[in-house]
Amino acid sequence: MPELPEVEAFGKYLDRTSLDKIIENVEVKNPELLQNVDADALKEKLEGHKFKYTKRYGKYTFTALDNDFWLILHYGMTGRLKYFKNQDEAPSYDRLLITFEDESHIAFDDPRKFGKINLASSIEEFVKEKKLGHDATEIDLKTFKQIFERKKGAIKSVLMDQHIIAGIGNIYSDEILFQACIHPKVPANKLNDHQTEQIFKVMKDVLKTSVGKRIAGEELPDSFIIPHRKKNGKCPNSDIKLKTIKISSRTAYYCPNCQKEIFE
Ligand SMILES: [Zn+2]
Repeated sequence: MPELPEVEAFGKYLDRTSLDKIIENVEVKNPELLQNVDADALKEKLEGHKFKYTKRYGKYTFTALDNDFWLILHYGMTGRLKYFKNQDEAPSYDRLLITFEDESHIAFDDPRKFGKINLASSIEEFVKEKKLGHDATEIDLKTFKQIFERKKGAIKSVLMDQHIIAGIGNIYSDEILFQACIHPKVPANKLNDHQTEQIFKVMKDVLKTSVGKRIAGEELPDSFIIPHRKKNGKCPNSDIKLKTIKISSRTAYYCPNCQKEIFE
């Protein structure tokens, strides 16, 4: 599932391929992905206009149009963008197909259809409406600490809660807790100051490294737990077999040696 680093890379991809070209046609193939706009209104706001630049907040990209509207995409479980010129390069699950005047296209490709398409005139209002928490790359240590010392939930659940911090999901919360040596089930408010600071620092580092890698189209470092999150996967530090545990109905991977459970 695309999380902050992948979504950041999608935004950069759109900016690399699709800016400043007149949008000639918009085809909504699966209207069920549309959230706050219908197909006719989306067509009307996009056709004849140009994309100017893209911003990201949490797991959403916001692409500015030259008419003060933003096309807002959420990539769900399997969403991605695909730019192409020839029809034989067209993706198989294009839910939204945008064609430019030069006959190139950008498609929102999403096999499982959990993606969402919105249109809005203000990012701030959209973020407020969706009740999104601070973006994970923007939040400062003081705010982070204030929030976390009040939360009784498992630290992994708190990190994944988009209303608390926006951008982190199942995959990157595993990475952050692995690198911070914290068991995913520890209640957030039971962490000491040092541990909370460690999670904050690791979160920033992991996201920075991962954003760079995803934009470059490179694999994540082998020292990360993410490449080892699979059946019989082993801890990159110690060769110990990783364990799984269900938290908030998601499967967490962790190393029983590096991330010892704390009982208090
Ligand atoms: Zn380990």
